[in-house]
Amino acid sequence: MSTAPSPARGLRCPACATEYEISLSRSACECGSPLDLVAERRPLPSTFEGRTPGLARYREGIALSAWSLERTYLGAGMTPLVEMGEGVYAKCDFITPTGSFKDRGAAAVTAAALEFGAAEVVVDSSGNAAAALAAHAARAGLRATVVVPEGAPEGKLAQARAYGATIIPARGPRERSTEVAMALSRREGCYYASHIYSPFFLEGTRSWAFEIFEQLGDAPDAAVMPVGNGSLLLGVYAGFVHLLASGLVRSMPRLVAVQSENCAPLAGRPVQLAGHGLYTDGIAISKPARARAIRDAISASGGEVVVVSDTEVRDARNFLASSGLWVEPTAAAAWAALSRVGDRDGRIVVSLGGAGFKRP
Ligand SMILES: [Zn+2]
Repeated sequence: MSTAPSPARGLRCPACATEYEISLSRSACECGSPLDLVAERRPLPSTFEGRTPGLARYREGIALSAWSLERTYLGAGMTPLVEMGEGVYAKCDFITPTGSFKDRGAAAVTAAALEFGAAEVVVDSSGNAAAALAAHAARAGLRATVVVPEGAPEGKLAQARAYGATIIPARGPRERSTEVAMALSRREGCYYASHIYSPFFLEGTRSWAFEIFEQLGDAPDAAVMPVGNGSLLLGVYAGFVHLLASGLVRSMPRLVAVQSENCAPLAGRPVQLAGHGLYTDGIAISKPARARAIRDAISASGGEVVVVSDTEVRDARNFLASSGLWVEPTAAAAWAALSRVGDRDGRIVVSLGGAGFKRP
């Protein structure tokens, strides 16, 4: 039903190199790996001035048509960049339609669903991704179904339900809800709009890099962000790669991935605890499906992994709130990591990606 050609050309497995055509029913490689998007990437223009906000503003950098991006626009993007101290900036990605950075990715996966003719989107999530997808599906006129693992926080589910999503509980381990969602997505006209598996989610989070370029006039020297499944970090990395290739920034920022000491697989630490119920539940992912790509991006950027304790996160959350910025614990983890960053030269941007009301 698409009315405009999409720059997306196909899907490719980063693990076994198998290629696939894009289709609503292709949610992962036969080998089980998430798939990457193959797309035509035009150079970015030197300025985006005169364009309306939202993902369509960066149409050369996001492999979806402006037609579909405009249909899912709810106001996500161009979030404030607040200078907190000399050279240290907070990217306030909790100021979005549903209160988390996941709105960037949700706007993109929903646009993909529209573009490829879906009538329904399904996702497995216990929190912010569910609310973000439900809101953008409502905007686009698509039905939304959310499969939730046991123990998911009721407040976040209430938000998804309010936007009209159907909530389906899945018993058993976290992987079970992924299996149920993938099975449901095989229904006719249904798209698995996963923030982990759909490569279109990462098309949306690229916008973080494009906005920082607009706000600072160049790349920062470092970007600090919490990492669970890597849906922000991977998009940010790809966005800066595109900015570099277009000759708009001087260098790639060092990407600093922040994890909790309870669950730090990227730091090579054995996972002690994982899942919801943890203070930083948003990054308590014991086996990120795109772990190799995350490690490669951190390494290629000259970045690092920083591990923080719950006590440090609590202190950071209180400090931010006392400065007028109320964020959820997972978001505060990024601020907690700031003092541990090895190389603090130059301008540093810290992502604050979830609102305080998500976890009062
Ligand atoms: Zn594969």
